Amino acid sequence: MPLREAGYLGGIALIGDEPHTPYHRPPLSKDYMAGGLAEAELPIRTAEYYRDQDIWLRTGTPAAPIDRGPGHVVLAPGERLPYERLVLATGARNRRLDFDGGEPTNVHYLRTRDDAARLRGALADARRVLIIGAGFIGLEFAPVAAEHGARVTIVEKADRVMGRAVSAEVSAHFAARHAAAGAEVLCGTAVDEFVRGANGRVTGVRIGGQVRDVDLVLVGIGVIPNSELAQAAGLAVDNGIVVDSGLATSDPVIFAIGGCARHPRPEATELVGVESVQNAADQARFLARRICGAEGDYDDVPWFWSHQAGEKLQIAGLSQPGDGSLVLGDPAAGRFSVCRVRDGYLAAGESINSPGDHLASRKLLASGARVDEAQLRAPGLSLRKSPAPALAAAGPAPAPTSHL
Ligand code: NAP
Repeated sequence: MPLREAGYLGGIALIGDEPHTPYHRPPLSKDYMAGGLAEAELPIRTAEYYRDQDIWLRTGTPAAPIDRGPGHVVLAPGERLPYERLVLATGARNRRLDFDGGEPTNVHYLRTRDDAARLRGALADARRVLIIGAGFIGLEFAPVAAEHGARVTIVEKADRVMGRAVSAEVSAHFAARHAAAGAEVLCGTAVDEFVRGANGRVTGVRIGGQVRDVDLVLVGIGVIPNSELAQAAGLAVDNGIVVDSGLATSDPVIFAIGGCARHPRPEATELVGVESVQNAADQARFLARRICGAEGDYDDVPWFWSHQAGEKLQIAGLSQPGDGSLVLGDPAAGRFSVCRVRDGYLAAGESINSPGDHLASRKLLASGARVDEAQLRAPGLSLRKSPAPALAAAGPAPAPTSHL
């Protein structure tokens, strides 16, 4: 718990609407789904830890509303919790598909521990799996389903996989790896019709005039920030809870962190929402220090990782749609990095099975180094082998010129 680690001695109440103590989400679509991780390994801390640290943990309790006048959160009729400072870490929820006649029981989403347990149970009997959305959720689940012996079809409406997150080169690499692992990857395509059986389950889908049999559907089409609680309390909201560089909302004693928040970043002209566990954890640590008296702005370099079809993808920095790409290393050998270049300078790094490159690009971006395209193109350069201090000496990072 970062607040206690930062030395905070006051009372802490931790309120969550799920029935579980806080747990790790990244393994849900990876090791847990593949059966390599037990339920007991998911919690971040034991129940005893919260007791020992004098943290009042209340699960299964949606907090609403916030009464900013006296500084209270209502937990239940007649039950009010006073606060001096309030941290909103309400996260995001899955975007859902609309089904006429109600949601079929074999259509799944994956975000919570309960979602994952239900999906893992259903996978045991699934033979024909349809995945809608080739983002992180869909692509991490696909190889697990294939390993269970299911025939997997992935339908993505954009023209390439993970199109918002990575370069065309990395999309192509992963599309090929998923195809090699047995998945049918259909980009630039949508489901035209769901065929429902007598029990309301989806039994097939029509895609481009062809009907495919289906017995399990996973929908992974992105998320919506949970900002309704903040909005109802009159806080500024704009596709997420608006915070300043110190993560304070429009009320200086209320803060927002993680997937529900949109914060300013030095390299961006608009507020940014970052959907990653690193962002949630680093913002939590920053805010704990701030509540304990530290000053400064939150500007940690965002980074992400994903394991898919035996490949390790690591991303440092935030790319934007118009960024250029420079490939370092040998894609054919399965180990390479793509430098995303904006206005002639390194803006983000995508590394495939190259953890050394990933760490180097994170360090370069965090140092504020101005690494230009000519330096990146130097013969024989890999990010890992690059003399980071020499590159960093080139000057400060460029001012933002485009929108995220
Ligand atoms: P995502 O990564 O945003 O990908 C969703 C994909 O589905 C996008 O490519 C989207 O295209 C596409 N899509 C949207 N509507 C569609 C439709 N009707 N038919 C077909 N495709 C459609 O979201 P996600 O995979 O659902 O993941 C949910 C959240 O969990 C994200 O915030 C993600 O970052 C996070 N997560 C992260 C990791 C990781 O970092 N390793 C792992 C799992 C989950 P458009 O972009 O064009 O809308």
